[in-house]
Amino acid sequence: MKSQKGMADIEVPVFIVGGSLVGLSTAMLLGYHGVPSLAVEYHRGTAIHPRAAQTSQRTMEILRQAGLEQIVRQKSEDQFVQDGGVLAVETLVGGPIAHYIADLNEGVRDVSPTVRVFLSQDALEPQLRRRAEELGAELRYATEMVSFEQDMHGVNAVIRERDSGKTQIVRAQYMVAADGAHSRVRQQLGIRMLGHGTFSKSITIYFRAPLAPLVEGHKWAVVYVLNSQLSGFFRFEKPFDKAFLGVFTVGNPENPEMDVSTGLTEQRSLELVRTAIGTDSIPITIENIMHWEASAELAEKFKDGRVFMAGDAAHVMPPNGGFGGNAGVQDAHNLAWKLALVLKGLAGPGLLSTYEPERRPVGAFTVEQAYSRYVLRTAPTMSRNGLQAVAPDLNIEMGYVYHSDGILPEDPSDSRVHEVPRESKGRPGTRAPHAWLHRRAMQISTLDLFGPNFALLAGPEGDSWTESAHDAAKQLGIDLDVHKIGQGSCMDPSGGFPVAYGITPKGAVLVRPDGFVAWRAKTDDRASAEQIKNTLACLLCRPR
Ligand SMILES: Cc1cc2nc3c(=O)[nH]c(=O)nc-3n(C[C@H](O)[C@H](O)[C@H](O)COP(=O)(O)OP(=O)(O)OC[C@H]3O[C@@H](n4cnc5c(N)ncnc54)[C@H](O)[C@@H]3O)c2cc1C
Repeated sequence: MKSQKGMADIEVPVFIVGGSLVGLSTAMLLGYHGVPSLAVEYHRGTAIHPRAAQTSQRTMEILRQAGLEQIVRQKSEDQFVQDGGVLAVETLVGGPIAHYIADLNEGVRDVSPTVRVFLSQDALEPQLRRRAEELGAELRYATEMVSFEQDMHGVNAVIRERDSGKTQIVRAQYMVAADGAHSRVRQQLGIRMLGHGTFSKSITIYFRAPLAPLVEGHKWAVVYVLNSQLSGFFRFEKPFDKAFLGVFTVGNPENPEMDVSTGLTEQRSLELVRTAIGTDSIPITIENIMHWEASAELAEKFKDGRVFMAGDAAHVMPPNGGFGGNAGVQDAHNLAWKLALVLKGLAGPGLLSTYEPERRPVGAFTVEQAYSRYVLRTAPTMSRNGLQAVAPDLNIEMGYVYHSDGILPEDPSDSRVHEVPRESKGRPGTRAPHAWLHRRAMQISTLDLFGPNFALLAGPEGDSWTESAHDAAKQLGIDLDVHKIGQGSCMDPSGGFPVAYGITPKGAVLVRPDGFVAWRAKTDDRASAEQIKNTLACLLCRPR
């Protein structure tokens, strides 16, 4: 392989392998931060199967930042019953035997300016693609990454167009492996997957059937099926003439068969759907069958030199809980702004080393939580030894806590990985809380103040901080968004901002472009340009 910069056919700051949910999210978010990227995808277009649908509030907040919230909510309304629940049946005809979640958004509407929605991957990906391209990303379909090598300054990768066989060399400063559970990049780097391994060879059966009489009028989004012949789950789309049945295991639940996939025929798929519905009287047409492995594993490294693992390439989990795709979008969100600031020369390369310590513990926690839900909800015969207690969904979605050099902690001995997001109150390492504000006669969220730059948010009497902040940013040569909340253009009608962020009216917080609090001063005792400058220089991992 030609390996020198200058001999490449294509030069791009960031090269992304894989153009599905996480590859597209990475391309879009890099574009949002003004960084050009090239993503290659083996398939000919965006996803053809629905797969992921449950989109967490945190992912919706990320889509809101990228300008996609409204279209995603609209598409979700077209496709799914809103605020749908998660429950279990023996058969669909027999009705519910257990309710896990009655209303997808019950009890969580206060924590975010947005809501949880269902939108299938085949409907979401075209939106991510459109937005990524609008923001300057280049996406090449029917193109695969064949091999790569990295040196001190970048990565060279060979890509091949599947139809013509034409190969080209891409030279990038960084590469993101968003190439899924069987990541070739990860394998080439010799990075092992650790965890529970693969425990079932599962299938998803996509079918058409007139299900409206059974489903319409109920707020059912995900319906687990647990009976003497199979364990799995249904997901229904409006107008309830098509659905999918995911099947994890078949046979006697006391001693189930974990391999549903090998030797599966269409006739057998039809029988499984009939069994799960609980009647032979509904005409069913099988449209497609997807084979996949239920696994719970985590990559031992998320970064190797200039290569980053994101999404299923970094963590694989069963679909229970709907966490996998969301965790991948959050990886992309964590990484994009760091790459941008380093590529623009505004942050030191050490900032990129905060990706793994921040995202890997969150990945480990999320994998275990999905695994616990899999065992407890669908495979009760599997061992519960060492099973992690089920944590609230909200903690997994947005209560994850970061510990790294990208955060200045108040209590360095505090190593918790998650908590109830209502209780974090702006503590460094946690997601900056949502509070409603008024700006130019419009209601906005505190989250709407976070863009490509760091943001300093001060209380209504935090003038010493806001005045110093401009000087500090000038001295560092960076753009800093400075807001005094409750005075001037950003009004706080409820007066709740200081409490929500755990500061006095004279305090301030620094929030990173990914909406995580990096530093907090409860009062203005130490307010000075020097203090903010040193803090920011440290958070940007600038060489001293
Ligand atoms: C039945 C089911 C239901 C699910 N439901 C949910 C849910 O409700 N919510 C949720 O958050 N998650 C859910 N998930 C999980 C979610 O689908 C995955 O976590 C998500 O698709 C991961 O996205 P990814 O982009 O990391 O990987 P993938 O979707 O696997 O994409 C990787 C892409 O990389 C491409 N690729 C690989 N190698 C190369 C190469 N060398 N060159 C070019 N391209 C390459 C592949 O073609 C592929 O398109 C579900 C999964 C299943 C199976």
